[in-house]
Amino acid sequence: MLWFTEQHTPNVRFSIKIDKQLFSEQSEFQRIDVFESEEFGRVLALDGYLMLTEKDEFIYHEMITHVPMCVHPSAKRVLVIGGGDGGTVRELTKYQNIEKIDLVEIDQRVVEVSKMFLPKTAAALEDPRVTCYYEDGLKFIRHVEDEYDLILVDSTDPFGPGEGLFTKEFYGNCFKALHEDGIMVNQHESPFYKEDAYAMQRAHKRICHSFPISRVYQVHIPTYPSGHWLFGFASKKYHPVKDVNWQAWKELRIRCHYYNCPLHAGSFALPNYVEELLRDV
Ligand code: SAM
Repeated sequence: MLWFTEQHTPNVRFSIKIDKQLFSEQSEFQRIDVFESEEFGRVLALDGYLMLTEKDEFIYHEMITHVPMCVHPSAKRVLVIGGGDGGTVRELTKYQNIEKIDLVEIDQRVVEVSKMFLPKTAAALEDPRVTCYYEDGLKFIRHVEDEYDLILVDSTDPFGPGEGLFTKEFYGNCFKALHEDGIMVNQHESPFYKEDAYAMQRAHKRICHSFPISRVYQVHIPTYPSGHWLFGFASKKYHPVKDVNWQAWKELRIRCHYYNCPLHAGSFALPNYVEELLRDV
């Protein structure tokens, strides 16, 4: 019997029974594996860390996209950093008013492998509004000014190639790259295990230094460590709950499997222990 096992902490492991391994390759940046499983469908792992499964990827990709889009439904120019599986781009292409989506992915092989093995996730990467840049997001953003309405940081964890996407320099450059009412959302790790919680606190502190409005919202992702995951919402002007534009968003008739308006507001209500972690930064 074959199992995919991810080490969540030195004391905790998470395993999925695998029917077969579909792909494995060491790219220039990381090991890329794709598995087939009965419970979760196809599974993408990078360097042994689970990135997505076909069964629950809708939760992550809807929540990284529709929360900021509901606050800023007229956003036209969007930058995605990381996200080579295409799930975030797929959600963005549901908005007809978005004119330009730039995807900056360090590893071209992730995009190619996702197109081959994860067609439902990668489906919209061929949309004519999408331009793919195969570069380090940390370097790409250094030379961009007043260009985007929205930046979505759909990165790996804060080590290996993703490390630079959790730095003060990066967040400061994202601020510079956004229009005066721009929003940045990033995957913000988990508050539950102490190793992840430390990374989450450090990221929050750095974002607070760069943006006048910085909040955290939570989401339930069954295959991520502890199942309890956070996103960071950083903004120059809009408040993530008070400035939400439900009516305008509903008129867009975007179909979602997870996201809805009451859930948007509720996701910013955090458990006491998470509030305390954020206060302690
Ligand atoms: N959406 C999934 C998730 O749930 O986390 C998967 C995200 S995964 C596809 C994140 C991507 O970020 C990887 O493909 C990785 O190659 C890319 N990445 C990591 N560091 C990067 C960097 N410095 N610049 C651009 N992309 C980077």
